[in-house]
Amino acid sequence: MSKKEAKYPKAASKQEIEEIKSIFLKHYPDSVTELNYNNLYELIVSVMLSAQCTDKRVNIITPALFKKYPGIKELANADLDDVKELIKSCSFFNNKAKNLIAMAKMVLEIYKGEIPLEQKELVKLPGVGQKTANVVLIEYTGANLMAVDTHVFRVAHRLGLSKASTAKGTEEDLAKKFKTNLHQLHQAMVLFGRYKCKAVKPECEECIVKNYCKSKEGFKAR
Ligand code: SF4
Repeated sequence: MSKKEAKYPKAASKQEIEEIKSIFLKHYPDSVTELNYNNLYELIVSVMLSAQCTDKRVNIITPALFKKYPGIKELANADLDDVKELIKSCSFFNNKAKNLIAMAKMVLEIYKGEIPLEQKELVKLPGVGQKTANVVLIEYTGANLMAVDTHVFRVAHRLGLSKASTAKGTEEDLAKKFKTNLHQLHQAMVLFGRYKCKAVKPECEECIVKNYCKSKEGFKAR
């Protein structure tokens, strides 16, 4: 087998896809994000902070941030150094602080202070890519969308659900293959990847989808 073939294992069959889907839906029926938030503003800020950072870390940072900047208006007028200080234990905090303030300013100026709930508008906001937009929509509106983070990417590849080398390509594959219940499947794959199908030492013996597993390689998006 060539190196390339070894990296991208056999694809899951149609039947396997359906079975994997029903197992995930059965085991993770009402999963929600582990980020703590009380409203749409807190959700989008938390999701922006969570890029390349753990939800646990974000949940430690946000109480003080939201106390000082409880809404879009306050964040739009925030002092950059102060926001940096409040989020400095988060990865890429310099950029994230700039983006958070710029996002709030744009929401205030262009969207009259209301965070838009359409993907095509959300992605116009500074620091909001398609993944962040989809996670916000999945969580807040239950939209039939997929979002691919490091966990979803790894699980999708180990199960032969995608051979794409990017998160975007994997998102398209999963949306095409699963078609419905995408928001639940997203949450399920995040939790399954985070706690069971871990990058290092996955818990294969107890795995709910071990019969469908194609590889134990620790796939990462390029
Ligand atoms: Fe992940 Fe192991 Fe299950 Fe394969 S058998 S999906 S590597 S936990």
